Amino acid sequence: MSELLTPFIDLGAQYQHLKSQIGQRIDRVLQHGQYILGPEVSELEGLLAESAGVKYCVSCGNGTDALQLALMALEIGRGDAVFTVPYTFFATAEAISIIGATPVFVDVDPETFNIDPGSLQTAIERVQASGELNPAAIIAVDLFGLPADYTRLEPISSEFGVPLIEDAAQGFGGSLGERMAGSFGEIATTSFFPAKPLGCYGDGGAVFTDRQDLADAVKSLRVHGKGIDKYDNVRIGMNSRLDSIQAAVLLAKLEVFEREVEFREQVARWYEEYLPDNIQLPRVPEGFRSAWAQYTIQTNKQAELKKWLLDQGVPTAIYYAKPLHLMDAYVSLDYQPGDFPVSEKLSGRVLSLPMHPYLDEPTVRQIAMAMP
Ligand SMILES: *Cc1c(COP(=O)(O)O)cnc(C)c1O
Repeated sequence: MSELLTPFIDLGAQYQHLKSQIGQRIDRVLQHGQYILGPEVSELEGLLAESAGVKYCVSCGNGTDALQLALMALEIGRGDAVFTVPYTFFATAEAISIIGATPVFVDVDPETFNIDPGSLQTAIERVQASGELNPAAIIAVDLFGLPADYTRLEPISSEFGVPLIEDAAQGFGGSLGERMAGSFGEIATTSFFPAKPLGCYGDGGAVFTDRQDLADAVKSLRVHGKGIDKYDNVRIGMNSRLDSIQAAVLLAKLEVFEREVEFREQVARWYEEYLPDNIQLPRVPEGFRSAWAQYTIQTNKQAELKKWLLDQGVPTAIYYAKPLHLMDAYVSLDYQPGDFPVSEKLSGRVLSLPMHPYLDEPTVRQIAMAMP
């Protein structure tokens, strides 16, 4: 194996670029010593709400907790069906199961990788008709950075009276029309895991909403269901907060975030220009902006291509090799191979290429030239 042309995600290059800002921000936290829910956390929440274009942002421990807190704020639990995709990171469905609700999977669109609105409608009607579970929420995922088709999803949510949650862990920074990722549905969530488009140096997450009742519920739930304070408990909650040092890192990174998304878009345009015609490229439909969390191609020689590229110094990743309905953790849901053909087919075809804002044109061209 030769040396890598680039890391898959280059956090080191970003750190070199932001070193002094990050250092200063962290120093300030060490000076004031309010490590939990310090001033950086509220400053960050204000800026994130503004950039998403919503009234409230409430930060928390990670993106999985953000989903759990959103579901808890909507008072979802046992006996409830929550519709989501089997083609996503496990956490999306896991959060549904943790609170005792049942994930009901819905297949994705083969071109956008996101929930198929037609199949969603059918699934809600089926659950309604069977009467075993109460259709309680929809979690749409902005996979690989591309917002789901909210123009079609929001009317379905209203028609059936089933609240919509946006899992923008990968989508934050993207948009649809005039609206930013993080602003769709009743409540949206994101993750600041280091590899996400906006990542911190540990775990972090947030929820976004225009509804004050949901924002207030999440503020209580993230601190043990607090009432007046954490020694007055009005509901069963969690311990899930973003710490001030992580907020400090995010404040420094937020200053360059819009520019970084533009750099990611430039990298995507170079890939489009230089990749050979036999590779199926990701598609961003008219009116959408992707945050390009991943640049994911499709190939009918997934394993061979992955190995070939690594031999040429190009690291790649398979997101996701196994759809959630086929995971051992979900045997009790009794799904079968063939239940979600698009997700299953994608799992065997996808390959994500290096994507980060610090990739330059010659490197992208070298990656493209490494293709067989
Ligand atoms: C990363 C991710 C999560 C979970 O975020 P964590 O911060 O790792 O808990 C949830 N959903 C999706 C789609 C993700 O990519």
